[in-house]
Amino acid sequence: MTSFLQYCVNTLGYLRLMTVSDLIDIAILSFLFYKCIGIFQRTNAAKVAKALLLIIVAMWISYQFNLNAISFILNKAVELGLLALVVIFQPEIRRFLERIGSNNVSRISRFFRNETPVSDVEEAIQETVEAYGEMSKNRVGALMVFERETNLSNIISSGTPFQSTVTSELLKNIFYPNAPLHDGAVVVRQGKIAAAACMLPMSESMNLSKDLGMRHRAGLGMSERSDAVVAIVSEETGAISVVVNGNLRRHLSPETLGRILRNELLPREESASGKRRRPSLPFWKGRGGES
Ligand code: ATP
Ligand code: MG
Repeated sequence: MTSFLQYCVNTLGYLRLMTVSDLIDIAILSFLFYKCIGIFQRTNAAKVAKALLLIIVAMWISYQFNLNAISFILNKAVELGLLALVVIFQPEIRRFLERIGSNNVSRISRFFRNETPVSDVEEAIQETVEAYGEMSKNRVGALMVFERETNLSNIISSGTPFQSTVTSELLKNIFYPNAPLHDGAVVVRQGKIAAAACMLPMSESMNLSKDLGMRHRAGLGMSERSDAVVAIVSEETGAISVVVNGNLRRHLSPETLGRILRNELLPREESASGKRRRPSLPFWKGRGGES
């Protein structure tokens, strides 16, 4: 008890010695740690972090019990591991340094928010518009979900996951009638296809036109439960629709589809249309209707 009290007194003593610059130092470090943990959670780095943590715990145990040989090997493993980390995360490190070098605050902050380079999203939009134009003419049904802030991992895992650049040819192949993955939705995460043949939650809205079936209801349901942007081609009519914030807009031209996707998916300052990006409604405020 006395040693605990002594510990508290010492800690308070240290706190009294703290200056404003120490506080700023701690705040910045905490922020960076917080952001790094976020990046770890969203990427494969989580597995690497777990492995590192295990090695560090093993090192500590071997040190405590004087297991010199194991301790030596683990020390060497960590030294080599640091080198390996630089090699494994070379693309991320390069991306980060390029962004710092670009001296552009919004690009750096986008890196910390783990957002995608705009060019990937822009390319995905161009390819989607091209594919939708053709699928609309040929009356090929399509359903695509563009993930934004709401994490759609559960939707992705309901389908067939695969990583690919969005290309018009691939989209037409996926949605080609009777192709193995044509049923369900393609999910695009950070400008790349993350999965196909995904099951979306159905909307229970009563305001939906009678001529709209499951595909449109699923697109609307997805939009009501997340901030994702959904793009649909009707197999029956070839009509292109987009659902944003629970709002279904029908009979769009490919150009309008492109404009809406750019407006919703690109950062405001880089959106080609230059329009303000509408703030996303949380899922419980989805309007569940058409406009
Ligand atoms: P279309 O105008 O293309 O006919 P629709 O809104 O009338 O569209 P349906 O004819 O019922 O819809 O389309 C059925 C297709 O919708 C299915 O083959 C499937 O690909 C897709 N679909 C249905 N339910 C879901 C769901 N929950 N998640 C994803 N896709 C779905
Ligand atoms: Mg139908």
